[in-house]
Amino acid sequence: MTGVSIAIDGPAGTGKSTVAREVARRLGLAYFDTGATYRVATLWCMREGVDLAQESDVAAVVETMNVTLVLDPRNPRVVLEDEDVSALIRTDSVALTVSKVATNLEARAALGQWQRDIIAGELEGGYSEGRGIVAEGRDITTVIAPDADVRILMTADEEIRVARRAGEGADLATVREAVLGRDKKDSTVVQFHTAADGVHTLDTSELTIEEAVQAVLDLVAEVRGDDADEATEASSAETAGNE
Ligand code: C5P
Repeated sequence: MTGVSIAIDGPAGTGKSTVAREVARRLGLAYFDTGATYRVATLWCMREGVDLAQESDVAAVVETMNVTLVLDPRNPRVVLEDEDVSALIRTDSVALTVSKVATNLEARAALGQWQRDIIAGELEGGYSEGRGIVAEGRDITTVIAPDADVRILMTADEEIRVARRAGEGADLATVREAVLGRDKKDSTVVQFHTAADGVHTLDTSELTIEEAVQAVLDLVAEVRGDDADEATEASSAETAGNE
């Protein structure tokens, strides 16, 4: 049996990366932070010196990058041209620029195809093959993996999201821009504030990380339970038909 696939979307500061990674660790699944694909593409474009306003040029440069993602939730990494850039892609300069790449529809198409291949277990050494995956981002429940077994939109009040990121140490104006300004720009190409049909909403405003992890695990158990019931019903219907 192949593992379960879990898609989690939501804006910055909802705790989705931390929760997704921990859920993957506990269930033994691959962990795929799709935001990292946009961040590493942005770093690559900055290094290559391409004008980010030139959409086709950016998309062409994105196609040339040589990246390996390590999907192990115990130690997820992003390797660009043999260099571990996992920390570099989290810097303010990337965070404040990434929306320019994410709102470039040509670059989005290329990165989206890469993401689909990873989720299908066809890339990254087949780490996710047969194991199942937790993939998180902005359009995973809707565009990239609408067929995922469990789909969740994580939300939280704006001020709480800003406060969580500010608590990580940066200055408030930069944090506000990196959270709310980025959401606003990202929202022009993807919708991640209200849940699509069949997507569960999980408001983490009042939840600890552990409570949010537990809520996701409960949903996964519910869906797996439903599948098991359906399988039992299907097999008893078959038995009945054979009698
Ligand atoms: O999740 P994270 O904050 O690392 O995402 C970085 C950026 O990547 C987002 O601000 C957004 O511009 C882009 N992104 C996206 N679609 C996704 C994941 C991330 O547009 N599925």
